[in-house]
Amino acid sequence: MVRQQEKNRSLPARLPKAEPGWAFFLDIDGTLLALAATPAGVTVDRELKQTLVQLRTATGEAIALVSGRPIGEVDNLFAPLRLPTAGQHGSERRDGSGVVHRHAAPSHRFDKIMHRLAPLAARHPGLLLEEKGLTLAIHYRQVPSLGGHLHRLLRELLNSAAELRLQRGKMVVEIIPIGRDKGITITEFMSEKPFRGKIPVFLGDDVTDEYGFSVVNAMNGHSIKVGPGRSAARWRLPDVRAARSWLEQCANTLAPAATGEQSRGPAK
Ligand SMILES: [Mg+2]
Repeated sequence: MVRQQEKNRSLPARLPKAEPGWAFFLDIDGTLLALAATPAGVTVDRELKQTLVQLRTATGEAIALVSGRPIGEVDNLFAPLRLPTAGQHGSERRDGSGVVHRHAAPSHRFDKIMHRLAPLAARHPGLLLEEKGLTLAIHYRQVPSLGGHLHRLLRELLNSAAELRLQRGKMVVEIIPIGRDKGITITEFMSEKPFRGKIPVFLGDDVTDEYGFSVVNAMNGHSIKVGPGRSAARWRLPDVRAARSWLEQCANTLAPAATGEQSRGPAK
């Protein structure tokens, strides 16, 4: 572990300059938006939407959001923008042509798990159970002392559910179908237009993003960890603010390279 920490400390501070041919994959919470007390507590400002529109134009539409949130929720947050999006850790995915792919999840398992968690949630009103359709999230940001107990309980509950796995996150633990993760979903995007043949760039902040970092590293892309913590990512940005500022820089750098499209960004 010490060796790993040393490795992370020596991560280069300077990120590469944006190049035509990059495709952007962006986690949302903790990467583009500061984490809030609850998932409903965030808003997307106009500047961020504008940066994403600029990047979309500059990359020939090779930009996707990769989140634990359901696609519908992502669309509501970023409206009127509707980008290619992987929701629920890739359990659902809207590709570059607008087609939505959904992984079938055994919903009766969630009912059973929800039923087992109900007494705990009743005792701790700060515990937030969020059934998202294909995944189930249990947020404990408001009752952090419950973390250890919750993880043990869920591990026990999942012992008999071979098709589901636990996904740790920042003050959240999620139950998601085995075989779906952010790395797999990025691979799927990369096999299709308009991403195919491009260099993947992935920004993420949490444990679940490590799947994406590994895949992007294997494709010789650019993996960028936002914030502190151990990571397989090759680059690091200190926080959400730095991540957004770097993306704005990328949009401005790439704007002149956009062909035949009108860029809304300043082409400096
Ligand atoms: Mg995140």
